[in-house]
Amino acid sequence: MKLIVMKFGGATVATPEAMKQVAHRIFEKKSQGYDVVVVVSAPGDMTDDLIAKAKAITETPDERELDMLLATGEQQSIALMAIALKSLDCDAISFTGPQVGIVTDDAHTKARIVKMGGEKIQKALHLGKVVIVAGFQGETEEEEITTLGRGGSDLTAVALATALNAEICEFYKDVDGVYTADPRVVKSASKLSYISYDEMLEMASLGAQVLFNRSVEFAKKNKIALHVRSSTKPDTGTMITEEVKLMEGVVVSGVTYTKNEAKLTILWVPDRPGIAAKVFGRLASEDLNIDVIVQDVSEDGTTNISFTISKQDLTRAKGIVEKLVQELGAKGFQADEHVGKVSVIGVGMRTHSGVAAAMFEALAEKGINIQMISTSEIKISCIVSEERVEEAVRAIHEKFKLSNLT
Ligand code: ASP
Ligand code: MG
Repeated sequence: MKLIVMKFGGATVATPEAMKQVAHRIFEKKSQGYDVVVVVSAPGDMTDDLIAKAKAITETPDERELDMLLATGEQQSIALMAIALKSLDCDAISFTGPQVGIVTDDAHTKARIVKMGGEKIQKALHLGKVVIVAGFQGETEEEEITTLGRGGSDLTAVALATALNAEICEFYKDVDGVYTADPRVVKSASKLSYISYDEMLEMASLGAQVLFNRSVEFAKKNKIALHVRSSTKPDTGTMITEEVKLMEGVVVSGVTYTKNEAKLTILWVPDRPGIAAKVFGRLASEDLNIDVIVQDVSEDGTTNISFTISKQDLTRAKGIVEKLVQELGAKGFQADEHVGKVSVIGVGMRTHSGVAAAMFEALAEKGINIQMISTSEIKISCIVSEERVEEAVRAIHEKFKLSNLT
């Protein structure tokens, strides 16, 4: 029988009413003759609320215990969903991540899956049950409960789809697909019918909050087709698949942004071999994720090195950079936490030229200053001042004529 994984996001199961609606949707799929495995997130803002509770006790809650706490959100969803399905006379059973053999490493709050079970699921499917699995959680070899990082239920869904050889992994959300830009920022943004894994991966990493980037990576590696669609409307949403010829014709498929950036500049660093290695080596050893890096041209044997990090790492990064300034004999450093990043993404960039120029032109026309630039084969990102990020997104979206495409 054909097997399908249906993943429901927190917003789609926020209330008992919403849960009932979702249960109907699942029952419908089951009635069409599919074997159905469901993955659910914690209802609504429950994960945020649980984190807030822990932080009301201490700013730095113990991570093992935090995982213990956060895993309860998804456990509520699965039980309620099974109750809802059974009330419709649809046989169902709920399992936690550990129960179905999702084994992870011991990196609490951002664990990686190292092994997937699945036997328990197969057995229940053979008995004709809909199987509901808690997203976001697993356990270590030592049976310690872990979570996979914020948004991690998406990863649970893709990992299960892979392990069970599912035909497709569907993501039911409160949005009906992937858009050319955040529709809250660009009213006329278009829904994409198709997008490649690589583009989705860049979009997810560069600010689009549609899917957890690690889930897209996993899907790409295992060639699992993904479908992002609405939990309330029947229409098809956006298919995420391998790159097809058709996609090449489209130069840009989306504009994304984040405001979660901060910029640090180390001033007047001696310009000699080994300096960058020392700076970024130190930051890496302190587990800081660096994004864009720019080194100015050297003048009088010194140079400025700028880089961006996420805002929540700024205080920590400042401490490290302060020490580095001393050690390297630099003049000092500057920190700017009011920056944001705007990016254009498209596999078509591989074969079309002029994309960067058009993007810079769009920003220039609005008088938006570009502070830093970074590019890859299929994306261009610009660091701009935080307060102009949305305007930048709209200008670029318009430049590439991405409005009302369908
Ligand atoms: N409930 C978790 C979170 O809010 C996992 C998820 O929803 O994917 O991050
Ligand atoms: Mg989520």
